[in-house]
Amino acid sequence: MTISSVINNPGPAGWNKILPSPNNPKLLEKNVSADFLIIGGGFAGLAAAERITQIQPKARIAVVEAIRIGDGPSGRNSGFMIDIPHDLSSSNYSGNLEKDRNEIRKNRKGIDFAKKMADEFNLSLEAYDLNGKINGAATEKGVMHNLDFSKHLSNLGEKYEILDAKEMNSITGTSYYKNGLFTPYSAIIQPALFIRGIASGLKKKGVQIFENSPIIDLKKESNWIAQTPKGKIESPLVILAVNGNLNNFGFMKSRLMHVYTYASMTRKLTNEETKSLLGKKSWAITSADPMGTTVRRISGIGGNRIIIRNRFTFNPSMTVSGKMLSKAFETHDNSFRKRFPILKNIQMEYRWGGQLCLSRNKVQVVKKLADQLYSACCQNGLGTAKGTLAGICAAELATNKVSKTTKMIENEESPKLLPPKPLAYIGANAFIKLQEFKAGKEL
Ligand SMILES: Cc1cc2nc3c(=O)[nH]c(=O)nc-3n(C[C@H](O)[C@H](O)[C@H](O)COP(=O)(O)OP(=O)(O)OC[C@H]3O[C@@H](n4cnc5c(N)ncnc54)[C@H](O)[C@@H]3O)c2cc1C
Repeated sequence: MTISSVINNPGPAGWNKILPSPNNPKLLEKNVSADFLIIGGGFAGLAAAERITQIQPKARIAVVEAIRIGDGPSGRNSGFMIDIPHDLSSSNYSGNLEKDRNEIRKNRKGIDFAKKMADEFNLSLEAYDLNGKINGAATEKGVMHNLDFSKHLSNLGEKYEILDAKEMNSITGTSYYKNGLFTPYSAIIQPALFIRGIASGLKKKGVQIFENSPIIDLKKESNWIAQTPKGKIESPLVILAVNGNLNNFGFMKSRLMHVYTYASMTRKLTNEETKSLLGKKSWAITSADPMGTTVRRISGIGGNRIIIRNRFTFNPSMTVSGKMLSKAFETHDNSFRKRFPILKNIQMEYRWGGQLCLSRNKVQVVKKLADQLYSACCQNGLGTAKGTLAGICAAELATNKVSKTTKMIENEESPKLLPPKPLAYIGANAFIKLQEFKAGKEL
């Protein structure tokens, strides 16, 4: 199959830009072979590589990534590795506790595996910190949302802590938040630092990682042969860890929703600006409204900065117009100024967008696609945890080492068919806009 390659990552991945430049990439320019070929070097691809090293330590494993590790969605997300998705609270809680418990169990498997990799490869706390997260509420509606969420957490037997406005102020240094809901079992990562750290740890274990090497053709002879513009790699077994780009390989057409979300990162704050902010030097807040703004304040290798993420758009073409980007970035500026009036003159240094892959029925695509071809795709927007999980499970399927969780995911139904493209485009974008409007001050 010829792979239509429309990998579109608008703007620089700020998280990666603030790190020291990486060494020159190793390109796939010759003819090479491997026992396992993993296409895609994000959370899913690297977790798959790590899991195979555990199951078959002597296997020759190759990961082939179209761009630089850290420049794709895995290095441009907001870094919340979440065990209990906050949109659980968006519908009615009388629902299925067991289903939610399974969901939490699966996410924690991803979080724990990521923690083990972070420990194994000596990553810093800045790269991976299993220290919980806060759902911030800026409106009465948000406070009610957090309250509903906390009732559900009690029903699930989960730990949490409600923070009042004063406590939120002492963390964030802004009076914007009326309350917060802290849950302890989420990790906060610097996504580019994490993903680059994992890639470099895997390389030291002998995994070959080729970057700037898009696979443009994949075919099965006696083995699978994957072609890049300048070389090719032959392997008996392939794992596709390419998230929504699975469509480009000809699979799950009209079943995957390509959604973009956007972020902006300030320039480095000066010492004076940092002091004027009060609050903690680093914190991370998701919004009580799933359509609201996530905010991070960081203090580390790249200096003291604030990162804002919001807005979603449904882009079946996997491209984003300049107009859409401008609108999202304008929203970021407003969200930033509302929260940090004291910093109103500070400019954003990096702005970007990135791809999510969702399915209508919220299932992942972790399965055998063809003879000796497996997928670890469709992370439904929570790819830091779910992508890691997908990678583990695809590696287990590929090596016949199937655990209970892997069985559960493999047996999930297929992603539901989407409505015809024009209808889906109009319907989904209208729905998103309405939800964003309803989010009000949470945006
Ligand atoms: C702004 C933003 C904020 C986000 N915030 C969060 C968050 O806080 N928490 C969270 O859980 N998720 C978040 N996400 C989503 C998260 O980033 C993704 O779900 C996650 O990156 C998916 O991981 P993955 O490994 O499955 O896919 P990806 O990270 O997309 O990795 C797939 C890789 O495959 C490569 N590839 C594709 N085609 C080819 C080819 N033909 N040849 C070679 N390589 C190829 C791509 O270049 C890519 O690097 C956010 C996303 C964005 C954009």
